[in-house]
Amino acid sequence: MRDYAQVRHEGRVTAQVAGEALRLFQVDDEGLDRVDREILTLILEKFDGGPVGLSTLAVAIGEEPDTIEDVYEPYLLQRGFLKRTPRGRVLTRLGYRHCGGTPRDEGGGCSNDGDRHGALEIRAATMSMLLHICCGPCATATVDHWRVRGVDVVGFFFNPNIHPLLEFRRRLTGVRELAGQVALQVSEDLTYDPAWWFEEVGSRGEIRCRACIAMRLERTAREAAGSGHQAFGTTLAISPWQDHEAIMDAGKAAAGRHGVQFVYEDLRGLYRASRSLSKNLGLYRQKYCGCLLSEWERYR
Ligand code: SF4
Repeated sequence: MRDYAQVRHEGRVTAQVAGEALRLFQVDDEGLDRVDREILTLILEKFDGGPVGLSTLAVAIGEEPDTIEDVYEPYLLQRGFLKRTPRGRVLTRLGYRHCGGTPRDEGGGCSNDGDRHGALEIRAATMSMLLHICCGPCATATVDHWRVRGVDVVGFFFNPNIHPLLEFRRRLTGVRELAGQVALQVSEDLTYDPAWWFEEVGSRGEIRCRACIAMRLERTAREAAGSGHQAFGTTLAISPWQDHEAIMDAGKAAAGRHGVQFVYEDLRGLYRASRSLSKNLGLYRQKYCGCLLSEWERYR
């Protein structure tokens, strides 16, 4: 944008100049560029709206799977054009409409509404919060976000969903490294028992992610109540890959059971910043959500 303004308008950036530059770079009114639109159109036209696995999509679009996951998908998910399911990527209603298709439940082929979330926002005043931490990268911008709002944040690591054991240790190490770098107190429940986890959560089919989120927030709420915190929250709220309705539902239910407040804000807008921060801090950055099923689904 700055280069365009420099070359064509002596460095002046106005709304008109910005509009010209965006048109030149083929960025549309929703902020999607050419490749974003190609991904949506491909899913609509070649895969009937999905589901389609990452590796299949990568071959079809001619990009590396990592590039799709790291560069394109976060924005498409955040804006509600695309949804990840256990069976692969699917277009939402917004996704269908953006590329001129008709959602499946309107005679085309889609089942999701492309909800942009954020319907429930429980805001924090000054308080002490036990923050469930899923990994170092997600904690970077989340901890900053709450601290600048005057919240006294203490971290809590409880993630029996992370497999296999070496991956669990890598993410735990990442959280400890971040804690040292930003002076964050973190308590840990290092329960790691895949057989138990698969029995309780992994075997639950379509609702397994809800159960996984609920298990972790239930444990966090119990810890918060037992250690005298007024509230609890989770770094999952920064991730475009997570089901935010499930986070809100599980958080509210656990809050009610344990008598502590659940604090939620949709922090997906901070996701890109969290990836840059974690890179600068040299933290381990994982490639899949956590469980072996998610590692497998990544390549389906
Ligand atoms: S994909 Fe992620 S949220 Fe879903 S069950 Fe696996 S670890 Fe839990």
